[in-house]
Amino acid sequence: MDGNRQKGNNKGRNGGIPQALFGILIALVVSWFISIMLSGNTSRFMSNNQTELSYSDFLSKVNDGSIYRVRIASEDIYAYEKGEELYSGSITDISEIDTQEKLDNYMKKIVASQDKVYHVVRVQDDGLVDRLLTKRVEIIGTKASIVMDLIISLAPFLILWVLIGMFARRMSAGMGGGMGGIFGVGQSKAKRYMQKETGVTFKDVAGEDEAKESLQEIVDFLHNPKKYTYVGAKLPKGALLVGPPGTGKTLLAKAVAGEAKVPFFSMTGSDFVEMFAGVGASRVRDLFKQAKQAAPCIVFIDEIDAIGRSRDTRAGSGADSEREQTLNQLLSEMDGFEINNGIMVMAATNRPEILDQALLRPGRFDRRVVVEKPDLKGRVNILKVHAKDVKLDETVDFEEIALSTSGAVGADLANMINEAAITAAKAKREKVSQQDLKDAVEVVLVGKEKKDRILSKEERRIVSYHEVGHALVTALQKHTEPVQKITIVPRTMGALGYVLQTPEEEKYLNTKKELEERLVVYLSGRAAEDVVFDTITTGAANDIEEATKLARAMVTQYGMSEKFGLMGLATTRSMYLENGVDMNCGDETATAVDEEVQRMLKVAFEKAKELLRNNREALDKIAEYLIEKETITGKEFMKLFTEITGIEEQKTERIIEKEDKDNA
Ligand code: ADP
Ligand code: MG
Ligand code: ZN
Repeated sequence: MDGNRQKGNNKGRNGGIPQALFGILIALVVSWFISIMLSGNTSRFMSNNQTELSYSDFLSKVNDGSIYRVRIASEDIYAYEKGEELYSGSITDISEIDTQEKLDNYMKKIVASQDKVYHVVRVQDDGLVDRLLTKRVEIIGTKASIVMDLIISLAPFLILWVLIGMFARRMSAGMGGGMGGIFGVGQSKAKRYMQKETGVTFKDVAGEDEAKESLQEIVDFLHNPKKYTYVGAKLPKGALLVGPPGTGKTLLAKAVAGEAKVPFFSMTGSDFVEMFAGVGASRVRDLFKQAKQAAPCIVFIDEIDAIGRSRDTRAGSGADSEREQTLNQLLSEMDGFEINNGIMVMAATNRPEILDQALLRPGRFDRRVVVEKPDLKGRVNILKVHAKDVKLDETVDFEEIALSTSGAVGADLANMINEAAITAAKAKREKVSQQDLKDAVEVVLVGKEKKDRILSKEERRIVSYHEVGHALVTALQKHTEPVQKITIVPRTMGALGYVLQTPEEEKYLNTKKELEERLVVYLSGRAAEDVVFDTITTGAANDIEEATKLARAMVTQYGMSEKFGLMGLATTRSMYLENGVDMNCGDETATAVDEEVQRMLKVAFEKAKELLRNNREALDKIAEYLIEKETITGKEFMKLFTEITGIEEQKTERIIEKEDKDNA
């Protein structure tokens, strides 16, 4: 619950100081300015061709007679020097001007006779007035303004007052549900987040071209509603950004505000839910009231699932009815205005499937903008955007990084660039290298290297065989992705070791053959343990999970099993949830599916064991080598592999086809 974060708010509660005092302060400031204007002391604030002059230069100018007038204030002296006389004609009245020549001359005079004014900081000099008088310099005094004096003498108190105010506000925020918290409870927090300029534009969002295009229209709706309503088009009131976490939904919303150059109210769904009943609804009301005053503007509700969850899922608890009230208020607010009023409501969620249907109806969030995980090109562009201010050396190749980060979202990639920069800085290098980036990929995707987690000797042996098992089976099959790295250095995210594989190209489709071989690769770690040690360990839990998931998908979704063929046995509940799959078949069939999955896993496991038994020498030698080195690169691995087995690197059919095409 978010209730403890209630911070200061807006009405009549400036740190407990009555509003009357605030009025007095304003009056003081205004009168201060007026007094400055009236006292003729404006030169102090407006520089009309004023030059700074040191006191000694000033004296020498007085001595050589170029100063004709001084104005002395308490701390400053203004010295006036006559402008150069360019005109010596006799025109004194504008009515005398009747020729172009006379006009030119007159203008010259006006320009030339502009005095030069020097500003001198006054120093203690008792003889000044005498000296000026002997040089026949005109002396003008300046009266210090009373209001000004007052302000200066009051300044310390004013500063104190401001500080106390700030302090009081802090206190009430810190006390959570304390005085300030209770009084301010219904007020919208949005004002705190209202930004005139988010400073973000579409340029800062890489990839996501479709989403941007769709949002560009929204910007246009806000600017030229007439263009659309004239034709009779109904404008959408709201846009819902949907996509996995970290793909840049929040960023896109800010960019829309930045592009449209309108105020941006941003709140998070959980901000509405307080510990007091009815608060959420009144926050919504307040938010829209403010928005109407600021229109045209954008209201953005991030993570709207916190309030927009389907109302019929679970009934009962207090928190639920509170959420429901908030949602109802939001719906009624959205019904209550037209886009012509200039309010565009945007929301973001990564769980669209749990949203209440009412939110998605026409007239509410009727526009859906899907924000996808970036593809290869998108990833390259995101890396570039985030590397804009990072110094890179010539080894850096974003293509390669992007290839090895399939599935990473914008937030991951931003993180990688930063990790790489930190690594370079730590090593006291001035530029980020490709190696830094590669390390960063591992840090972000697999977790930081954990040096202090030490494996026993026996454990290391088992982990080493396990990983080499994966690598060997990968290399021994045709439709797999090349091995990039094998390591037995443990990572914080739980893996004791792993084999990193890089695809040669971005893939959207996998052939049945590829998936079958991947299944064998998943199970080959366990197979190696089985073949060599005749025992099995817990180290393969993740492999087994992945293998099972894959086999099940092959059976139920991809139509790749012998037993069921093309029969669709499951539907995806959400494209954004990894496990969001519903079985849509009877119990009996479900049991049969389980059996089929089991059979496929068994076949794959036997295949892995067979491959490893036939290449036992390579398995032993490379595993021993890995124990020594802890980490070996894909190249080293392939060299050893070819030396021992005599098998050249296998390439996937896809690559061979591509090469054929290139050669032709
Ligand atoms: P979401 O709201 O979808 O969870 P965010 O908008 O909060 O994701 O993204 C988090 C951060 O990731 C952003 O601040 C930005 O630095 C980075 N990021 C995400 N997607 C992109 C993108 N398409 N282009 C550039 N940066 C991105
Ligand atoms: Mg977000
Ligand atoms: Zn494994």
